[in-house]
Amino acid sequence: MGALLASGRPSYSFEFFPPKTDEGERQLFRAVRELEPLQPTFVSVTYGAGGSTRDRTVRITRRIAEDTTLLPVAHLTCVGASRAEVRSVIGQYADAGIRNVLALRGDPPAGAGTEWQPHPEGLRYAVELVELVRSLGDFSVGVAAFPEKHPEAVDLAADAEVLVRKADAGAEYAVTQFFFRAEDYFRLVDRLDALGCRLPVIPGLMPVTNVAQIQRMVQLSGAAFPDELAARLHAVDGDPEGVRRVGVEIAVELGQRLLDGGAPGLHFYTLNRSTATREAYAALGLASR
Ligand SMILES: Cc1cc2nc3c(=O)[nH]c(=O)nc-3n(C[C@H](O)[C@H](O)[C@H](O)COP(=O)(O)OP(=O)(O)OC[C@H]3O[C@@H](n4cnc5c(N)ncnc54)[C@H](O)[C@@H]3O)c2cc1C
Repeated sequence: MGALLASGRPSYSFEFFPPKTDEGERQLFRAVRELEPLQPTFVSVTYGAGGSTRDRTVRITRRIAEDTTLLPVAHLTCVGASRAEVRSVIGQYADAGIRNVLALRGDPPAGAGTEWQPHPEGLRYAVELVELVRSLGDFSVGVAAFPEKHPEAVDLAADAEVLVRKADAGAEYAVTQFFFRAEDYFRLVDRLDALGCRLPVIPGLMPVTNVAQIQRMVQLSGAAFPDELAARLHAVDGDPEGVRRVGVEIAVELGQRLLDGGAPGLHFYTLNRSTATREAYAALGLASR
């Protein structure tokens, strides 16, 4: 991944999560198959809160690596695991031929907003995981970034410095939390620039497909949802097709502003569905690239 980004080619990627049921897994692989022809730069598979999906994340990432033409990036967190246990998961990724890891701290096991307690023999911050993964072999490592700052960070400046530390530890790119104001992204990139850090930061886009869902996610992530966008969505609430159409329009407007402003690509939060992502991809003119 690092080499791909260094080549200056924009990176387009899709994020999936490991489902809990067989039907969920069938749905996920339908979405994977429908998105595969778009030839994204990579697809990523999340690692459940508290490491709860460890085995499923490893299995699904392996299946994508073996059964599709896609390049999978496996997420990994420090939550509830000793250093030895984290090493063992990294070994499982390596055995499955997975060389791309998104190194994350993870949210506190008791839920976002509660106090973060590392495992007594574990890692405290994502930067330590970047160092560990890099020390264990030829991995390309990405990290998380937060245009509106991480909820626990004192301020935007401190959070940008954390990102610089992750880059110095060997992270080759960052992917952001989803957000809805382009200026938040550009402010983060400007801060990194001022600190002399050229880490490619790929903005995360969440095409809204359901008004209730976005309200829940905004509450959980703390992302600001501009009133003007909320009004556009509320105007079509109760009409699922209309909500998806407006959600895709909003994602396309934001994605275009980000690309026009120099973003090195886009990362789509798919929620294991393909339709909204395919529509946004096509409207941005990426399907024919
Ligand atoms: C693209 C993306 C993908 C994600 N995927 C997953 C996933 O698969 N599974 C999952 O459970 N969660 C995932 N998350 C959520 C993420 O794990 C949480 O947001 C978590 O709270 C922060 O993770 P981090 O890697 O940024 O942590 P860190 O970089 O460790 O930062 C955590 C907090 O500590 C502060 N900090 C960091 N280093 C230091 C230091 N040295 N000294 C003082 N303060 C410091 C930071 O400013 C921040 O406030 C993802 C987030 C993003 C943006």
